Amino acid sequence: MITHPAFAVEPWSVRETELDLAVLAQTESVFALANGHIGLRGNLDEGEPFGLPGTYLNSFYELRPLPYAEGGFGFPESGQTLVNVTDGKIIRLLVDDEPFDVRYGQLLAHERVFDLRAGVLVRRAEWRSPAGASVRVHSTRLVSFVQRAVAAILYEVEPIGGPLRVVVQSELLANEPGAASPTPDPRAAAVLESPLRSEDFFHRGGVGAVLLHSTNRSELRMGAGMDHVVDGPGNTGTFAESSADVGRVTVTADLAADERLRIVKFLAYGWSSQRSAPAIRDQVIAALAEARHTGWEGLLEGQRAYLHDFWERADVELEGDTELQQAVRFGLFHTLQAGARAEQRAIAAKGLTGPGYDGHTFWDTERFVLPVLTYTAPDAAGDALRWRHATLDLARARARQLGLEGATFPWRTIRGQECSGYWPAGTAAFHIGADIAEAVARYHAATGDDAFEREAGLELLVETARLWRSLGHHDPQGRFRVDGVTGPDEYSAIADNNVYTNLLAQKNLRDAADAVARHPRHAAELGADFEEAAAWRDAADDMVIPWDEALGVHPQSEGFTDHQVWDFDHTRPDQYPLLLHFPYFDLYRKQVAKQADLVLALHVRGDAFTDEEKLRDFDYYEALTVRDSSLSACTQAVMAAEVGHLELAYDYFAEAAFMDLRDLEHNTRDGVHIASLAGAWTAAVSGFGGMRDHDGKLTFAPRLPARLEHLAFRLLFRGRRLKVDVTKRDATYTLLDGPPLQIGHHGRSITVSSTAPVTESLPPLVERPTPSQPPGREPIRRARESM
Ligand code: BGC
Repeated sequence: MITHPAFAVEPWSVRETELDLAVLAQTESVFALANGHIGLRGNLDEGEPFGLPGTYLNSFYELRPLPYAEGGFGFPESGQTLVNVTDGKIIRLLVDDEPFDVRYGQLLAHERVFDLRAGVLVRRAEWRSPAGASVRVHSTRLVSFVQRAVAAILYEVEPIGGPLRVVVQSELLANEPGAASPTPDPRAAAVLESPLRSEDFFHRGGVGAVLLHSTNRSELRMGAGMDHVVDGPGNTGTFAESSADVGRVTVTADLAADERLRIVKFLAYGWSSQRSAPAIRDQVIAALAEARHTGWEGLLEGQRAYLHDFWERADVELEGDTELQQAVRFGLFHTLQAGARAEQRAIAAKGLTGPGYDGHTFWDTERFVLPVLTYTAPDAAGDALRWRHATLDLARARARQLGLEGATFPWRTIRGQECSGYWPAGTAAFHIGADIAEAVARYHAATGDDAFEREAGLELLVETARLWRSLGHHDPQGRFRVDGVTGPDEYSAIADNNVYTNLLAQKNLRDAADAVARHPRHAAELGADFEEAAAWRDAADDMVIPWDEALGVHPQSEGFTDHQVWDFDHTRPDQYPLLLHFPYFDLYRKQVAKQADLVLALHVRGDAFTDEEKLRDFDYYEALTVRDSSLSACTQAVMAAEVGHLELAYDYFAEAAFMDLRDLEHNTRDGVHIASLAGAWTAAVSGFGGMRDHDGKLTFAPRLPARLEHLAFRLLFRGRRLKVDVTKRDATYTLLDGPPLQIGHHGRSITVSSTAPVTESLPPLVERPTPSQPPGREPIRRARESM
């Protein structure tokens, strides 16, 4: 495992105190800055060495053929791959004729700080060149949350000891080499060589340049521009040049021992599938002008204010575990970065931090990320759902192609077309439609955003409900069955009546019927009436939920509990993840779960199970779940906490939160795992806070594990900010603003108002034996790790 021993434990930042090139690619993902629109990997300023250079624009992709050894009807023919666009981060430095490169000379000191309140990546380096000249380099980089098209870098150079001649080359570089290397791991990215075709380039005023490019097949056009404010000694000179793939501003200066060169680099990006080259050029120039007008200090202040506001409504505080405190805030910060200014574009599984999964969005967004954004940055959640709405025509066309009614959303995509070439774990995972519908209903219930419901939510609910009605059927006994689908667990496929899928479909059908009743006139425009809604309610009421009478548990899907149990005893530790070492046919016919599936149903549809069922189901699936997906630990944390295994819940909470800081899946180099990082919030708030929101009712059932003395979290609900403080003995609910709110505390209803906090005691916990996991797949025992 590649771990990073050098991250210092601090509550509001991730500090790397020395540079270790063995983990460079991992740190580039960890230190990636993004605002949901632009993403800059944490590459070193000078561009080399790198693990993976990366600069991304949300939804800027290239098409590539999806080759099949044997084709089949309805197989998608074209894939979409996120493009590594023009790199504007590069600032090269020549010190007395020697290029500043950490692989040569001597790196006297190197520190990087990822600051979660300032929203910047700071780097301080001291370097002695092979010829003996010493220099101090200090850079601060940001991707603006406030000015969506803008990033900026403050770059400062000063001599250590004697005077120096320096040359700084600040660049825009397109078709950068080294973006990805081919790998057999299906979770990595397709390699695209030279994806950008030059359309125009020019430089201006000695300090700026703009490059315009387009893609060959997806026919998208982008512009990248830079501008500089240079502050150096009297002899400082600048000049600019440009060519098809390079824009360069060169700054030369002779620095006396006590002098410093200070450069502010403003970067702007724009892209479109429709706008002309002149329009994009002007858009980029305008964004640069605005950035220059705001100035470096102004951008910094804006960033801080934006984040102050965010933390005031989203922070999670832990007393008793500073390392986990850092990890939870780090996770929340990346979750915000993935969606903050995406504005009706997809939120990808890796955000904009790396090329993993080709930059695709999956159900991860609606199931794991939007529940967090709904209560912490609701506008971002609403926008992400409006993006789904904008792809409805494609989803309807896909449903028609498959012979179905309503809409079939793609398993993985950037633009909206299905890009999964493996249909058993792609197209057949129809539950994504219900995940989207559930996110719609949750967002509406938590925000009361009626305009959203009328304009986008209603249609999403109606079209997904139609899908279930046509995908399922009533059997002779009058039961509604959904056969031959794949649930969340990707180590099973094409099974009948997956409990998670059916329970989510049931909710989808009911929520759609309720929305039609609320908006009959808008529903009529969609051709939906009370008759159709009644048919949905019937299907929902008759939904098959399989049950294994002999074992007293729910089979994940019909027949699952009859399958042979996977031979865990003869599976070596190095054979995980199983998908890279065993054929799918064998995984599919055994009892082994890649990730929470039935257990996810226990969380999301907790209202459909008794307490006793939850206890038994949780314990049963613990013994089968190998967590080969990073989407598992957070759900297991939530349910372990609910059924009373608080220490186990704590271990899973830590696993979700440390996913990338500790590179637990060995692939953080390809980008951070946004769903797992968002899941750390869910583990804290829905796990130890016991927060649920079935049918728009906000309830809590808090309880702390041994190691935590105090947990505090805030969230937004219907325009109010609520703070919850939990200790070992009691919970205090404080309404920070807004009219009184009715909530639940361990099954009792209470009302909180902004005039007086309410404190309630915690009921005693019934101790129960902790279930076991497959041998070797136990989570790291965080509860016992050294403090
Ligand atoms: C998981 C899927 C997930 C995908 C992207 C897979 O390993 O099994 O559930 O959507 O990764 O994160």
